[in-house]
Amino acid sequence: MKLCRFQTTSFSAEEVHRSAHQIHPEIRNGIIEGNEVGEIRGELWGDRELTGRSWPLNSVKLLPPCAPSKIVCVGRNYPEHAKELGNDVPREPLIFFKPPSSLIGPDEPIVLPRLSERVDYEGELAAIVGRRFRHLPADENVSAYILGYTCLNDVTARDLQRRDGQFTRGKGFDTFCPLGPVIETSLDLAAVDLETFINGTRKQFGHTSEMIFSLDVIIRFITQVMTLEPGDVIATGTPSGVGSLAAGDVVEVSVSGVGTLRNFVIGPDDDREN
Ligand code: MG
Repeated sequence: MKLCRFQTTSFSAEEVHRSAHQIHPEIRNGIIEGNEVGEIRGELWGDRELTGRSWPLNSVKLLPPCAPSKIVCVGRNYPEHAKELGNDVPREPLIFFKPPSSLIGPDEPIVLPRLSERVDYEGELAAIVGRRFRHLPADENVSAYILGYTCLNDVTARDLQRRDGQFTRGKGFDTFCPLGPVIETSLDLAAVDLETFINGTRKQFGHTSEMIFSLDVIIRFITQVMTLEPGDVIATGTPSGVGSLAAGDVVEVSVSGVGTLRNFVIGPDDDREN
């Protein structure tokens, strides 16, 4: 099942009535069936009761498929990627945060910041948490706490990451966390291909079997530290083949069984708010 968050481009009478001066289309949760998005009541991790309203998929704007309280990432989780950046393979998961303010959805621009001269793509598989939990007992299965899976681009200002030694600045710029396009609730984690394309050319290819720490190990490790909430995002690391982004690039992260997350890159001068 494919779940999404979306906005419609037309406004309901209620929305027009509610906001006479500035209209923001309501954020809706939905299930994708074929070329249609069916609206559901309540949260994506709830009962998913359909409201009966639906829209053609190509008429809606897909948003990041969740609104996390935190985005927890794992660094150096593919041996060839650790090696290509001159790092040792970690003995235990190396975790860091990206702020929720870095999130963007499909087809939105990644803005290159003025502060960095080297911004890299990192295509990753992400898990979305479906239930609040911590300190998972050894005999309990992690998958019961996962809503599903999506594509994530862990965009990184490599020069700032190296200069700072810790990751907050290099990983944390606005627009540095493209996420989506949908949450696939059923995925065989033993057989997932992960690919990243720049302007149509494949730059990264990995398979989840190469991960040093499995999602199960990663999540047990994280929940020894912090409570995970519904909608939280766990990024599982990038395979080898990372490289830099330039203004004008189109970057696509594909996870087999989920779909393709496409974004384009603009320079600081192209960003009206920068
Ligand atoms: Mg990464």
